[in-house]
Amino acid sequence: MDQQSRRMERLLQIGRDLSTAADLYSVTQSILGAALELTGSECASILELASEGKDLRFLAVCPEATTLKTVTVPINGSIAGMAFRQKKTISVNDVSTSQHHFKNADRVTGYKTRSLLACPILFRGEALGVIEVVNKVAKADYNGDDATILETLAAHAALGVQNARLQTLLEKTKEEATRLDKMKNDFVAITSHELRTPLGLILGHSTFLRELIEEEYHPQMDTIIKNAMRLKEIIENMSSVDNAQSGMAVVHRRTVSVRRLVLDIVALLRQEAEQKKITLGIDVDDSDLMIEGDSEKISIAISNLVKNGILFTNEGGHVFVVAEQVPGYVKIAVIDDGIGIPAKDTLHVFDRFYQVESHLTRKHGGMGLGLSVAKMMVEMHGGRIWVESAEGKGSIFTILFPLDSSQAEAAGKVFTS
Ligand code: ADP
Repeated sequence: MDQQSRRMERLLQIGRDLSTAADLYSVTQSILGAALELTGSECASILELASEGKDLRFLAVCPEATTLKTVTVPINGSIAGMAFRQKKTISVNDVSTSQHHFKNADRVTGYKTRSLLACPILFRGEALGVIEVVNKVAKADYNGDDATILETLAAHAALGVQNARLQTLLEKTKEEATRLDKMKNDFVAITSHELRTPLGLILGHSTFLRELIEEEYHPQMDTIIKNAMRLKEIIENMSSVDNAQSGMAVVHRRTVSVRRLVLDIVALLRQEAEQKKITLGIDVDDSDLMIEGDSEKISIAISNLVKNGILFTNEGGHVFVVAEQVPGYVKIAVIDDGIGIPAKDTLHVFDRFYQVESHLTRKHGGMGLGLSVAKMMVEMHGGRIWVESAEGKGSIFTILFPLDSSQAEAAGKVFTS
């Protein structure tokens, strides 16, 4: 193989290495190894922009020279800096005659630089750093071939450095997301815990006072109690999220009549529906459907769906709860002809704190927790929940509860009582 083919082969190999190399270190070492070999130099290095943006620092050196890693090279006042600023390859065959040479690196390492070839590492026109080779062996001068080789390797290095930058950014972003998620979880845990006691006192005392005061003040007292109950509901949703997250949630399993459960929920929410002139109907198999589960949790899941149905349906609309047995499951669907959910949001409405309308302009109350709580309750029973919706036409929320209770047991902490 002639020298030209050998070079081509080596450069090709670097390209292949780049796509398989696991980390920045192996990428840079393989690039620098090729730079040494193909330009016939004593030393090769990659410098990157230091975070302050005024200096370059050694990202990788071949052969390894740990002392160099402590040296910073000024962008103004070095040959590497000149290549970086001017975005072009610079060759100096006798550095002793160059006023730009930065002598400090040699002072620190005790190394004697004679000749130098520096090429900027460019990514989309932006200089990320510099690749340098030093001291061509046999005291020869760097030539055009060497410059071409170094420029090719600089293009490879640009991809390596950029990938490493993106990787670091991704890791930082992941860490930040985990930190924020933990803060959010702590906030939910602390708030729900701290609000529970004072709210219990407000509710207890206002219910007691209602019995003592004259009837003409009952409407005001009722408003206080109703709103305190609303707050209680929000806090309970937050506690459910916290319990499910901390693994504290426990499913107390009993045989539950779906018909009974749905009738109770509808009875409780009928008044709310009537106030909005919404028809609230049910269609549940007469042959009583039974599931093995925690009636309280199943009830929370279905009521949250029905409450949303009423909330997000305009006056004169309809909300229906339909339950039937399908192979292996009991299927419960809450159907409304309300405002519907935009397609882009349907995947997210089950996320904690997710609301379709911006909280600044939204017309409806709520914390964006109802559906995530419903999902948790359903999943604790080994079930599934999903939504099909069309904006302006309405939504169908469907829950499947497994008839086989072993699926529910596999899904969570289950106690039979
Ligand atoms: P919130 O307590 O804020 O209502 P949810 O978790 O219950 O929170 O619901 C999340 C979001 O999903 C709501 O803010 C609403 O935008 C949308 N949504 C839920 N149910 C319906 C529905 N039946 N029709 C239209 N939009 C709905």
